[in-house]
Amino acid sequence: MLRINEVKLPLDHSEEELKQALLKRLAISASDLIRFSIFKRSYDARKRAAILLIYSLDAEVKQEATVLKRLSSDRHIMLTPNIEYQYVASAPDGLTDRPVVIGTGPCGLFAGLLLAQMGFKPIILERGKAVRERTKDTWGLWRKGELNPESNVQYGEGGAGTFSDGKLYSQIKDPKHLGHKVLQEFVKAGAPDEIMYVSKPHIGTFRLVSMVESMRANIIELGGEVRFSSKVEQLILNNGQVEGVELANGEKIPSKHVVLAIGHSARDTFYKLFEQGVYMEAKPFSLGFRVEHPQTMIDSARFGPSAGHPILGAADYKLVHHASNGRSVYSFCMCPGGTVVAAASEPGRVVTNGMSQYSRNERNANAAIVVGITPEIDFPGHPLAGIELQRKWESKAFEVGGSTYQAPAQKLGDFLAGKPSTEFGVVVPSYTPGVHLTDLSDCLPEYAITAIREAMPAFDKQIKGFGMADALFTGVETRTSSPVRIKRDNDSLQSINTKGLFPAGEGAGYAGGILSAGVDGIKIAEAVALSILHELKVA
Ligand code: FAD
Repeated sequence: MLRINEVKLPLDHSEEELKQALLKRLAISASDLIRFSIFKRSYDARKRAAILLIYSLDAEVKQEATVLKRLSSDRHIMLTPNIEYQYVASAPDGLTDRPVVIGTGPCGLFAGLLLAQMGFKPIILERGKAVRERTKDTWGLWRKGELNPESNVQYGEGGAGTFSDGKLYSQIKDPKHLGHKVLQEFVKAGAPDEIMYVSKPHIGTFRLVSMVESMRANIIELGGEVRFSSKVEQLILNNGQVEGVELANGEKIPSKHVVLAIGHSARDTFYKLFEQGVYMEAKPFSLGFRVEHPQTMIDSARFGPSAGHPILGAADYKLVHHASNGRSVYSFCMCPGGTVVAAASEPGRVVTNGMSQYSRNERNANAAIVVGITPEIDFPGHPLAGIELQRKWESKAFEVGGSTYQAPAQKLGDFLAGKPSTEFGVVVPSYTPGVHLTDLSDCLPEYAITAIREAMPAFDKQIKGFGMADALFTGVETRTSSPVRIKRDNDSLQSINTKGLFPAGEGAGYAGGILSAGVDGIKIAEAVALSILHELKVA
């Protein structure tokens, strides 16, 4: 099979034109082409009046070696690499020490799935509820302003990304193509096939719900166990070696291999692990607001006359500005045609995030506009100081929003002018249970407010209309990534001071997003499997 990269065609080309472009690139006749398929499809929208689709194609041709030799100077044509996943281990019969996985976010789910596929029959523990019940609790906050601290946007089956845009791309280095395995498993669980080839795949919320159920069923079928409402209270430790976990109800589950995939919001668990002596350190994260614009405005700015084209879908954006106070302001987790969601997990606090459905056809585009912060400058002194900083601004947002789980909001024009908003403009907020119009300048540290004010006109130069006075800010966005890193050894992937503990995913500081958390889950499953086999060998 040959891989042909950089095949470029106009947006509205036919299937026949794609085939003809391939034949031309390979300089072969139609009778020499056995079949071809699309490996990846992306677009180049730099020239809005002439948007191009860019393909990587896989083609089976007659006399492949001859064709490849003839085209050897073309660096965009090569043999198709084999990126199919290869299991690193298989569990021996009669294994008694079952690995434990804490958390059913993408990291825990993939760690559990891979361990189950290799025959290790993991026990997976989740503090929140199964996804259907969890959905009801999450709607409880969104519709009635009632927060369930154990079952919400952050906690429960599927983890933090279940009620999300389901964006499935990442900039991580992935030399073993583990991301491909993640996407394949998602397709098996019900994701649309296109996620395998479009450059920026997304799934949307509804499908994610049934996908995580399907993955759970698969794990159980393979001999694994998945338990909900099972919060791990603490580790059972003996001389720096994990010997199991203790649940909040006092039940003890023995295991010498514990995957810690708890996400970035399990603050109580971070504190408990810190008390137990597990090594962790503060890490940088970001603070900011969500901004909403009309999606049609973003589409026109990005795609010009092709706005609304079905292949392009709702437009996204990615913006960065280096402010004169030394801070970087950037857009994060952009959700085209989506809604801003209440993402708090602690009572008396307000946190924003974004989600969308697969169709991405809601009226507003939203994204976090955040400012990078670092422990050395902004929260020095204690490994968990970042958590307290997040709590401070989330509590402030709750208070400024009226202490009812409404979020404080302000129009962009008023934010720049430094005056409170009193009425909405053309952008109607999507956040439920509702927003409270106010002045956001007290809702973040002064350096962040200054940097965001400076960034808006700069962003307007990149996306015409971005600085519109009626765009709406809703606050606060505090959970862009974990404020903590639970350090692990590069080879064994075990905690650097707690043997048998495998810190993983976003909460431990080793992933940021659904795809990278899934990839880290696979890496961790491999490390656990190899560690179990090694210990059996030396015993
Ligand atoms: P999590 O998904 O946070 O999962 C951790 C799990 O551990 C949770 O289910 C939690 O209940 C459980 N847990 C915690 N403590 C304990 C304990 N003590 N005992 C038992 N269980 C415990 N990323 C994207 O790539 N694309 C997106 O479109 C996207 N949109 C998002 C939208 C929203 C609203 C949110 C909140 C996040 C979004 N993200 C998105 C981020 C993404 O969801 C996370 O990066 C990802 O879920 C991290 O995976 P994880 O498995 O490491 O942790």
